[in-house]
Amino acid sequence: MSKKKRITVAKGDGIGPEIMDATLRILDAAGASFEPVFVEIGEQVYLKGHSAGIEPSAWDVLRDTKVFLKAPITTPQGGGFKSLNVTVRTTLGLFANVRPCVSLYPYVDTKHSKLDLVIVRENEEDLYTGIEHKQTADTVQCLKLVSRPGSEKIIRYAFEYAKAYGRKKVTAMVKDNIMKQTDGLFHEVFKSIAKEYPEIESTSEIIDIGAAHLAERPQVYDVVVTLNLYGDIISDIVAQIAGSVGMAGSANIGEIVSMFEAIHGSAPDIAGKNIANPSGLLNAAIMLLVHIGQPDIAAKIQNAWLLTIEEGLHTADIFKAGVSRIKLGTKEFADAIIGNLGHLPEKFKPISFGKAKEIHIPEYKRSVMKKDLVGTDVFLDWSPGSPEELGKKLSTLSGDLKLRMITNRGVKVYPQGQPETFLTDHWRCRFVSQNTPDTEMGDGFTPIQPNQIANLLLRIAEAGLDCIQIENLYNFDGKRSFSLGQGE
Ligand code: NAD
Repeated sequence: MSKKKRITVAKGDGIGPEIMDATLRILDAAGASFEPVFVEIGEQVYLKGHSAGIEPSAWDVLRDTKVFLKAPITTPQGGGFKSLNVTVRTTLGLFANVRPCVSLYPYVDTKHSKLDLVIVRENEEDLYTGIEHKQTADTVQCLKLVSRPGSEKIIRYAFEYAKAYGRKKVTAMVKDNIMKQTDGLFHEVFKSIAKEYPEIESTSEIIDIGAAHLAERPQVYDVVVTLNLYGDIISDIVAQIAGSVGMAGSANIGEIVSMFEAIHGSAPDIAGKNIANPSGLLNAAIMLLVHIGQPDIAAKIQNAWLLTIEEGLHTADIFKAGVSRIKLGTKEFADAIIGNLGHLPEKFKPISFGKAKEIHIPEYKRSVMKKDLVGTDVFLDWSPGSPEELGKKLSTLSGDLKLRMITNRGVKVYPQGQPETFLTDHWRCRFVSQNTPDTEMGDGFTPIQPNQIANLLLRIAEAGLDCIQIENLYNFDGKRSFSLGQGE
């Protein structure tokens, strides 16, 4: 007899234990060959003082089993706790968050009878790196990091996924009309990789109108690839309009370890009431079974689930009088699925899964770029005062550099600011070479030396000004690689 596959299992918080018990019972009854290795995550672990929300010993279990079935956890809001989900995804390099959403019309109430799309969400970067600082009494900042290898990996994964699963179109959603550097890089990489897949249609949309289109006409989308935060938001929207946020599962794919979870959270409002829908976690477990080479068991469960749905046996979140027949609790819904194991749906097309498709992402090749230092942005905590006062003070300190402008929250306030602009205590002061013309907006910023910046900072400190951060300005391959201030 072949050895059972060990998988790491965490029951999580809130509705986690209820939906995990239901899911494991269904897997057992279907004959899935697996041995759960339970680890503790979530609130109890945070309370024991592990700020990442996971027992330290769990990392070895994860490394050993390489597969993780995880129920949702409650992430404390604010405070010193880090999100366990983000920690696991980034620590183990789970770069692709794959979230298929499908509507089960007419058996689950939805406005969208033809919704069948997959959101491929970048999982390691963007605002989720959690690098945040309070810099002044009035201002905090969160660093949005987007890298070329990170973007290449996820975008290539989306195209390879489309190819492997017969999807016809990949849409990128970005906001590069505003974030020209970060979202701009993601979009540029998308356009360049799309050229390698001429058989797959590629389009891109600005995320705000894209999210509106997704909610209004999801049937025009097939695979959507996007940055971490946008992907988090739009996958909840799409799951909800498909019927319920409680229905969709997701796979977090890494090169070595992969994690499978529902897309929803721990739903503390309905915890312990036996009313949660276990379908999201069950669909994640089905993806897991395909991943570990048990596609027939995965299909057996999915078909029994579809039959249960079309029989109108529904949990409260998808129950609708006139559409549903019987409202079931979490346990009873799982029993109904178990009772249907071995039967095929009559109205929906029965599912069969082949072997999990191997998606190989080639190693990233870093290109050498020419990098020229052309200036620096010095951020000051300074109050109160007028931009003119600060501008005059800094001009006397600029030495062999030139104060080009001052912005407050990104808006130019010196020279020639507007009196209506709201001022905080957070100032960005841009210094460039004296040889850079004031009218230069493009790639013609003139190079400077690092010690010019060091000397400038010394003068600023000696003048008693509070420098909270510097960001140097570079041209890469002769191209300006920093944004201009609003109104610069
Ligand atoms: P949530 O997804 O837990 O709940 C949103 C709404 O959907 C609630 O009304 C809830 O009752 C309902 N809902 C969610 N899952 C359901 C299900 N299976 N069946 C029926 N109804 C369901 O989102 P939230 O309330 O914003 O977050 C609660 C907690 O979950 C927070 O601490 C959050 O940080 C955490 N969270 C965890 C994960 C995760 O572990 N992967 C993901 C998202 C949120």
